[in-house]
Amino acid sequence: MRAAARRRGGRRHGVTVGVDVGGTTTAVGLVTREGDVIVDASAPTRAGERDPLETIVGLIAEVTSRAGTSARSIAAVGVGVPGPVDAERGIVGEPVTHIPELAGRPLAAELGGRVGLPVVVDNDVNALALGEATLGAARGARSLVVLSTGTGIGAGIVLEGRLVRGAAGFGGELGHTPVKFDGPRCWCGLRGCLAFYASGRGIADIARSRIGGDARTTLLKAAGGDPSGLTAAMVFRAAHEGDGLAVSIVDEACQALGAMMGTIVNGLNPEVLIVTGGVVESFARLEAKILRAAGEYAFPRALASTRIEIVPGDKRASVRGAAALAFYEQAVDVRRTRP
Ligand SMILES: [Zn+2]
Repeated sequence: MRAAARRRGGRRHGVTVGVDVGGTTTAVGLVTREGDVIVDASAPTRAGERDPLETIVGLIAEVTSRAGTSARSIAAVGVGVPGPVDAERGIVGEPVTHIPELAGRPLAAELGGRVGLPVVVDNDVNALALGEATLGAARGARSLVVLSTGTGIGAGIVLEGRLVRGAAGFGGELGHTPVKFDGPRCWCGLRGCLAFYASGRGIADIARSRIGGDARTTLLKAAGGDPSGLTAAMVFRAAHEGDGLAVSIVDEACQALGAMMGTIVNGLNPEVLIVTGGVVESFARLEAKILRAAGEYAFPRALASTRIEIVPGDKRASVRGAAALAFYEQAVDVRRTRP
């Protein structure tokens, strides 16, 4: 314990680089041991044919030069990427639906070779959960689940202060939990998944498939008459304006999300459950409806003992999470090597 404290204390004034690799945008920041993002930058994950690794390397160079920090004072780099990750070996799993260029690659070794620093890679929502539990809104909570709905849906689980990665890196892949046994095939190949009903991609896909040739619907007008242009934001807006089809899709999304929250609360009963992600901005005004749905599927006493926060996604929180991953691995290493 003393060794751990000494080692961590010794790095207190150093900074860590946090990298959040998203399907469209990659964000990088320098993060202090206290969780402050002192400088950050972002860029499109891929510019034309450019490899996403080059985007990461370029952004790290940009933030370190802007902060005037020499590479020597940076302790490590933490990277969050979507989908399952073999964190032990630093290999991105397959499939990575939204960033296929990274699938199967030893990203920790590749990036480490380029920047000359230790690199830890894990799932982006695992990183976010660690960030919230150690440096963010749920600081001090021993158990926490983050459910993030953006293009897809991911989750991160921290129990008794430990990140739950599972045997092959699938720990927290709650987006592909069935919420409808007889539901259609999800893009992941499974059936009736939560992500199919309540993620940005899922909501847009469902709207497209149900709109048919009904030219009267506000939804089709919102998409300029072309269903392929439909987005989840348009569906939420149309629902707010009272379009019947959009209302039914959004109601179903809230119900699916509530069912997942009930499963999490009953099964893990975490101190804190954070629902976040890009789509949550649209879900936020539906908070009462989502909580009502969660109440239909959770034991009342379990639900009452879990603090639920529904907050829009925030790139800086994701960057802080990626940095928290590197801090966490340092602490785990110290525990492993402790005599
Ligand atoms: Zn699925």
